[in-house]
Amino acid sequence: MSSRLQLDQLIRADNFIDGAWQPAASGQRFAVTDPATGRTITQVADSGPADARAATDAAARAFPAWRDTLPGERAAVLRRWHAAIVEHADALGQLISLEQGKPLAEGRGEVMYGASYVAWFADEATRIYGDIIPQQQRGKRMSAVKEPVGIVAAITPWNFPLAMIARKIAPALAAGCTVVAKPAEDTPLTALALALLAHEAGVPPGVLNVISASRENTVPAVAEWLADSRVRKITFTGSTPVGKHLARESAGTLKKLSLELGGNAPFIVFDDADIDAAVTGLLAAKFRNGGQTCVCPNRVYVQSGIYTRFADRLATQVAALKVGPATDPASQIGPMINARAIDKIARHVDDAVNQGARVLAGGRRLTELGPNYYAPTVLADATSSMQLSCEETFGPVVPLFRFDSEDDAIRAANDTPFGLASYFYSLDVRRIDRVARQLEAGIVGINEGALASEAAPFGGVKESGYGREGSKYGLDDYLSIKYLCQGGLQ
Ligand code: NAD
Repeated sequence: MSSRLQLDQLIRADNFIDGAWQPAASGQRFAVTDPATGRTITQVADSGPADARAATDAAARAFPAWRDTLPGERAAVLRRWHAAIVEHADALGQLISLEQGKPLAEGRGEVMYGASYVAWFADEATRIYGDIIPQQQRGKRMSAVKEPVGIVAAITPWNFPLAMIARKIAPALAAGCTVVAKPAEDTPLTALALALLAHEAGVPPGVLNVISASRENTVPAVAEWLADSRVRKITFTGSTPVGKHLARESAGTLKKLSLELGGNAPFIVFDDADIDAAVTGLLAAKFRNGGQTCVCPNRVYVQSGIYTRFADRLATQVAALKVGPATDPASQIGPMINARAIDKIARHVDDAVNQGARVLAGGRRLTELGPNYYAPTVLADATSSMQLSCEETFGPVVPLFRFDSEDDAIRAANDTPFGLASYFYSLDVRRIDRVARQLEAGIVGINEGALASEAAPFGGVKESGYGREGSKYGLDDYLSIKYLCQGGLQ
């Protein structure tokens, strides 16, 4: 990288296709706003099918040469991209906070977290092994080799504007795939900045293409990729209804799919838990990104013997959390992403209170700070008939459910179509083994609230989707296995 770019130099408003910045073919644009103030940051390209097709054309032209690079060459490019991201950690962190609203320290933390996947997959690029199959017949040699699936379409959500897209692009490029990507309409700027840094780090033209689109134009733009048989894989993080839509609509060309979808994470605290550790773990897991995280605990089950003590300690700490704009270094919780998000949170809390939940902390919008702020909230006496028990609230709200037996807790925890993350606190080794086995989830936190790591497989079961990101398994979704059978060797 020649020189370090400042925040305003990282803000790009055009699509990045074939190594060049270009406006949408229609010339349309839409506004990206700061959720703290509603102020427009910039107007970005509002892409349609023609732009999606142009991105695929570029990815198709670039694919043969990128597929044929040596793994070590791809690793070197990814390492340079990683270095550029780390070098720009402060400015990228500011950009995340600006368009997404999370506090500055969390924005910077997300940069380093996202970058860790790039470093991880740079190394993994050089470890894509196949198999020599033990000989079955004389004169025949059988082997299995792994090849990149082809063009990958990546569609990502707004809650982690850098990490979600980095952990898709990095394994795709490591495997030898080329990428067309569409970030969420609320937060396209960080993805475009990543494309800029990738280009400067030596990712060849056409290997990575990023287009932006408004919510309205997203459907026809993505439909272009779904129908195009050259696009061999969709990797998606977002809501379950959209994931199902992508699965249905891509069936016509039978694409490979990775779907990281919604969760409804249970967090169980047993009577034999270390209560202070459980409160600390819950605060870390729940209030990261203001509760707008797919692995955030959504339902907190507390055993009767410690319910009141746990609730009191939690409420005291939650009431002390500092809410404010990302620009205030003291802020621990920023604004929610948009009006839709804040309305859903208010609807869930009102429904719970109307059904008898008691507010121990928060429980209201903070209109004095701006339109998108909600107070960190603890609700006691939550029940399974409340909306927040079956839907992800995606905000800073902790509902506390009381339970008596281990069986009751497991039954309630698994009583959901979702199965992404789950958590429990207990100091009984036999209970730990039992509960970990019985929870229906792709991820289980045991006496731990912070689970994310590039070295671990991240993903869900049930309607939270399929596929894994990160870890040694994270490349599998971008590779297909080719069986070679060579005869006439005697
Ligand atoms: P969303 O599903 O509305 O949007 C995600 C992406 O899909 C965006 O880029 C959006 O533009 C695009 N999209 C929306 N409708 C589409 C359509 N009809 N066709 C094609 N693309 C479409 O989700 P969101 O509101 O951005 O994100 C919140 C959701 O994401 C939550 O449910 C959360 O649990 C989930 N999430 C899951 C994970 C995970 O790893 N499992 C991580 C983060 C968020």
